[in-house]
Amino acid sequence: MIKKALITGGAGFIGSHLAQQLLDEGYEVTALDNLFTGTKVNIYGLLENPRFTFMLHDVTQPFWGQFDEIYNLACPASPIHYQRNPVETIRTSFMGVMNVLELALKTKARVLHASTSEIYGDPAVHPQPETYWGNVNTIGIRSCYDEGKRAAETLCADYFREHGVDIRMVRIFNTYGPHMHPQDGRVISNFIMQALHDQDITLYGDGSQTRSFQYIDDLIRAFRAYMKLEPDVIRKFIHEHNLPVPVINTGNPGEYTIKQLAEETLRQIPESKSKIIYEPLPKDDPKRRKPDITLAKSLLRWSPSVALPDGLAKTIAYFRGV
Ligand code: NAD
Ligand code: UDP
Repeated sequence: MIKKALITGGAGFIGSHLAQQLLDEGYEVTALDNLFTGTKVNIYGLLENPRFTFMLHDVTQPFWGQFDEIYNLACPASPIHYQRNPVETIRTSFMGVMNVLELALKTKARVLHASTSEIYGDPAVHPQPETYWGNVNTIGIRSCYDEGKRAAETLCADYFREHGVDIRMVRIFNTYGPHMHPQDGRVISNFIMQALHDQDITLYGDGSQTRSFQYIDDLIRAFRAYMKLEPDVIRKFIHEHNLPVPVINTGNPGEYTIKQLAEETLRQIPESKSKIIYEPLPKDDPKRRKPDITLAKSLLRWSPSVALPDGLAKTIAYFRGV
């Protein structure tokens, strides 16, 4: 029997790669999206596939369908976009996962929820393991996203404990690659677009803050490995590791300062006339971020394989063509 998957946020950066992967594996795929930050450009190639359906819908409104697997990705992820409409951001995060969990409860679907390293806030523990509770401002400009994602995790945890919903949470650390929107506003797409168009490279703060960048293919492999595990394997694993619910970090632990990223981008676009300029650091910008991926390595028998210079080269090649 053909397996059916629903991807909320399926026209976004990660969602469109996941849709392609699931179609390649023979799934029937429905991509639900309201196109807030996603675009049909990402899924043009998929629309011709008879096993692919696009559903223009807002995840905060209930929806129905019988699916084997639901991937909940709907939510703006770039600071400039989630801060553009903060009330809608927290509503999307909370109501979206609520609608997904209710559907999963009624239809016994398996759910993967896209959480984020942002739930650790500006972390006081480095690198960040899943057992760290985070350091998050509840009323800052990033809070609509951070607290929305934290509340979404709480809902997932309670549907798991109270109703036995088969939920798997992934705390995704900065992920990049082709299909990021050219105006997405996140650092890798910004730097590449600026360098390709000879515009100033906008380094916020002194550029000493760090991030750990994961290439999209590594993330999709982790998603698929996680969703293939049977519930009893996951329950045994969380019991053995003293975790209350299934939650893992995925990311690439290679840690770079943002200044190093700017320099590497310029090194890979040698014809660029761009200069690095310094702009104020946005409020509550985390100073350091690096995933502890011990649990993901052991549970999924997975590890990231694409180093930043290689992933950056593939991403630059994509942006040269858009
Ligand atoms: P993206 O902005 O490209 O994708 C998000 C998608 O969700 C878009 O297609 C957007 O139109 C859609 N969407 C937003 N609000 C919606 C709503 N109310 N109803 C229906 N669709 C809606 O970003 P992405 O990087 O692909 O992120 C996907 C998910 O992964 C998000 O939940 C994000 O929080 C999470 N995540 C991403 C990263 C990363 O580095 N890329 C890191 C951590 C977490
Ligand atoms: N950043 C930057 N210039 C930009 C965009 C972002 O220096 O044009 C910095 C930003 O301040 C942060 C880091 O790059 O320290 C990562 O930012 P991004 O918005 O990609 O993701 P997040 O802060 O959510 O990790």
